[in-house]
Amino acid sequence: MDQTASVKNLEQWIEELDQFNQTPGNGTTRPVFTAEDMAARSYVHKLMESVGLEVKEDNAGNLFGVLPGEDPSLEPVWTGSHIDTVPNGGKYDGIAGVFAGIEALRMIKESGAPHKRSLSANVYSGEEMSRFGVCCIGSRAIAGRLHLEDLKSHSDPSGTSLYQALKDVGYDPDSFDEEFPCKTPVYASLELHIEQNDVLEKSNYPVGAVTGICAPTNMVVEVFGVQSHAGGTSMTARRDAYMAAAEISLLLERLALESDSMYITGTVGEMTLEPNAANVIPGHATFSVDIRSVTIEDKDALLEKFYSGIKEIEERRKVKVTTDMMNHDKAVICDEHIVELVRKGSADLGIPTMDIVSGPYHDSLMLGDITKVGITKVGMLFVPSKDGISHNKAEWTSIEDIAKGTDILANTLLKLANEA
Ligand SMILES: [Zn+2]
Repeated sequence: MDQTASVKNLEQWIEELDQFNQTPGNGTTRPVFTAEDMAARSYVHKLMESVGLEVKEDNAGNLFGVLPGEDPSLEPVWTGSHIDTVPNGGKYDGIAGVFAGIEALRMIKESGAPHKRSLSANVYSGEEMSRFGVCCIGSRAIAGRLHLEDLKSHSDPSGTSLYQALKDVGYDPDSFDEEFPCKTPVYASLELHIEQNDVLEKSNYPVGAVTGICAPTNMVVEVFGVQSHAGGTSMTARRDAYMAAAEISLLLERLALESDSMYITGTVGEMTLEPNAANVIPGHATFSVDIRSVTIEDKDALLEKFYSGIKEIEERRKVKVTTDMMNHDKAVICDEHIVELVRKGSADLGIPTMDIVSGPYHDSLMLGDITKVGITKVGMLFVPSKDGISHNKAEWTSIEDIAKGTDILANTLLKLANEA
């Protein structure tokens, strides 16, 4: 291909998209299906058309910018990411991958390089879980892991359900169960994303070939103890909900540290106590548990020990503990063939790459659910995040690195689109 990625395009598109922001001057805030998100979508829609892509949309709000191939009967090759953000987040997370995908297709189109399979640069709805408590809304729907009843049971903090939010912005959520999982099999998917860690930066590589994507398991744990007087209740008579919650949290940390898995993490990020007063022993504690790893077996092994440890703490401390599993997602091992194409493609272009595992999840995690959609090949490319910072207004990635990643992306997509 005679084209290289345009730094100017990538920079301009990223800057222009950032005008659709609820918190200018204090990071980027663009929750899914808000006015800002819808305006950002229409910007991307117009951009896709302006570079010559055919734009399609589904009822989960996913946008597809299609570059038709010579043989429309062949399964297409996908790229893409998301444009929603966490509150006061950055302007690269997801966005870099959306524009890299569009730029890659522009390069392929303008180079006139023939390709048998159609190519599609996509925007997946609501990858961040911050508005509705469910992550990867669009790609989850595509994979058949989000249903009409789920749309009604997930609500934002103001009480608007995901179902209502979809309706309010003009989609037809009632057709959800007919439309999804996506009926057309996909040949391969390759997503570019910022790393959100500092491995590439520290190792001095502009691009990483992702070999696996860790998946989250999320649960809500509740401890029911007995609320009583901080001075009047002796230490031995207490049924302290907080101390039990603290012990369960430390158990999680110990199990993650002791695991043989290289990538497992255990996090308690949120805790509320009742009544939450300095002189009262808490009677009720509610907290979040987030466990991630690159294989589900690692997580299952940890969970088994976690549950039996909880049982022991429950009996010893005479409290009641309930666990409510929100999701238990399967990690994805990236397709070895795509990883190899990425490595080889970067060597041909003279761009050094290293293999890397993704701790955070991405839309590709859902797209790798091969049993539902028939996507057999999933891969990702990472570009460095300055100081490893993301989900923060200080998030920054060099446009030159995004352009290098886009060059590899375009060349790999073209190869995939010509495979039989
Ligand atoms: Zn992201």
